[in-house]
Amino acid sequence: MIRVLAAELADAIAAGEVLERPAAAVKELVENALDAGAGRVSVEIRGSGKILIRVADDGAGIPPDDLDLAFVRHATSKISALADLGRIQTLGFRGEALASIAAVSDLECRSGSCRVQIRFGQTLARGVCPPAGGTVMEVRDLFSNTPARLKFLKTDATEAGLCQRTVQTYALFYPGVRFELSIDGRVAFRTLGTGGRAQAATAVLGPRVAKDLIGVEGSEVSGLVSPPSINRGNRDAILLAVNHRPIVSRALSFAVEECYSGLLERGRHPIVALDLKVDEAEVDVNVHPTKREVRFQSEGAVFGAVQRTVLAALGSSAPPRMLVAMGTPAPVASAARGWGMASSAGAPPQASDLDLQSALDQPPSRLRAVGQIGVGYLVAESAEGLMVVDQHAAHERVLYNRIVARLQAGAVASQPLLLTEVVELDPLQMAGCDQYRNELKDFGFVLEPFGPQSVRIESAPADVPPARAAAALEEMLAVMGRSEAPKRLEQAAATLACHAAVRFGDQLDQSEQSRLLMELESTDLSITCPHGRPTRLLLDWQDLRRHFRRTY
Ligand code: ADP
Ligand code: MG
Repeated sequence: MIRVLAAELADAIAAGEVLERPAAAVKELVENALDAGAGRVSVEIRGSGKILIRVADDGAGIPPDDLDLAFVRHATSKISALADLGRIQTLGFRGEALASIAAVSDLECRSGSCRVQIRFGQTLARGVCPPAGGTVMEVRDLFSNTPARLKFLKTDATEAGLCQRTVQTYALFYPGVRFELSIDGRVAFRTLGTGGRAQAATAVLGPRVAKDLIGVEGSEVSGLVSPPSINRGNRDAILLAVNHRPIVSRALSFAVEECYSGLLERGRHPIVALDLKVDEAEVDVNVHPTKREVRFQSEGAVFGAVQRTVLAALGSSAPPRMLVAMGTPAPVASAARGWGMASSAGAPPQASDLDLQSALDQPPSRLRAVGQIGVGYLVAESAEGLMVVDQHAAHERVLYNRIVARLQAGAVASQPLLLTEVVELDPLQMAGCDQYRNELKDFGFVLEPFGPQSVRIESAPADVPPARAAAALEEMLAVMGRSEAPKRLEQAAATLACHAAVRFGDQLDQSEQSRLLMELESTDLSITCPHGRPTRLLLDWQDLRRHFRRTY
């Protein structure tokens, strides 16, 4: 028998779309407060939002006659005609959030001097209360009537973290609103709401991170971006908004991250909070029930504006003098330009135009080793000034260029191991040994099968200390297994260089320091290591003179 579902059941089903988890309820309630013009939004969360979510604001409030209606599906004060969908200026417009939350929780709303309590979609009480400016929404026992949803939630710590990130996001994009978040009775953060985005960032991200963020204030894009030196191991801190509406867009995040390519190590991501200004008619926010995704009419133009803004901000991020180093600061990718391994095997390494040019511009300067400082930095004096060198990154670059040159020349540099080493490998690695046998041989590995699960290393690449040969082999197999053909050898070479290089932390005596500096000096593209990290920092004479007010 087919029947139309009772309204409360239909609401509970529909609630699933809007409310994936407690953080989604937090988002909707905060959005309503902002739409009501609040200057202050306080959020309290207990038990990762499953026990209590309380959002209080000082906004316009709900007129007493509308209070019941606010909890009816598709009831909204924000749009009234179809044409309104094309020019949405509020965060909400679907009229679904309150109905959804009330369907799966015990909700009490106090606005002005009226209150209403709704449990699992049923109105339990309605009446008056002492008047307060604005609106308070208290949501208890969220999802307690939808056990399937409860089961799907992550750990309390994760859900609370997601609630926190939600409030943080709005705090960053609404710096003029005073936000406060407390979790289980403890204040997580508090913004002043006095306008500045930098100030909001200080409260949300912490002063240490916030002080180095770069502010961007353009007509199309505004916000904050981190300099490359400040980064994270995940993308959680890439926050984007369109017309103050926080959104999720993989493509746009990717466009932002592209601006950092060559500046960040692999696996590291920037901290970004960017608000795009797009004509309301040119962006569709009605794509997804949670309004988190948007569609742009001219995506290319929007992405272009974002990239221009970020690149300009990053361009001004480095005090240029401090970071100018000898050689041409070319992006690391160009080191691999024209790398046809198969075709150029046997041919001598070619100096590219770029290298020739820099050689003409700058006669090589002699680096004098002054000493080793900290864990693994070398200090040197050059014709240009005082140089600080990251010994591992520098050695990596020297070895990488040498390994690449040898491969291109078809010269194998291998050393027999006095104590041959047996390495146990998993089936995938064994397959890799077979598949990349020739490449490994070119790098200097001579391997003998040793039973079904292991190989014996007879000889290893010349630069690798024998004790690290096995580790180098294993990581090279992993790298070659996951990289695409044109990049495979470069990446294997970078891995080999990394294993062969002195560690950050190794003690180097005077002659080892001098040798490394000399090699670095005569190496192309030596400004970065093969992974894109800088190898050194220069404080030039002119800056020193200016600082100490000397004329020579
Ligand atoms: P929407 O935000 O899409 O309109 P909601 O279900 O979130 O739908 O809210 C329904 C209506 O309730 C809103 O249109 C608004 O008029 C009113 N409302 C909800 N929360 C608040 C609040 N904190 N302050 C004032 N009005 C509110
Ligand atoms: Mg809403």
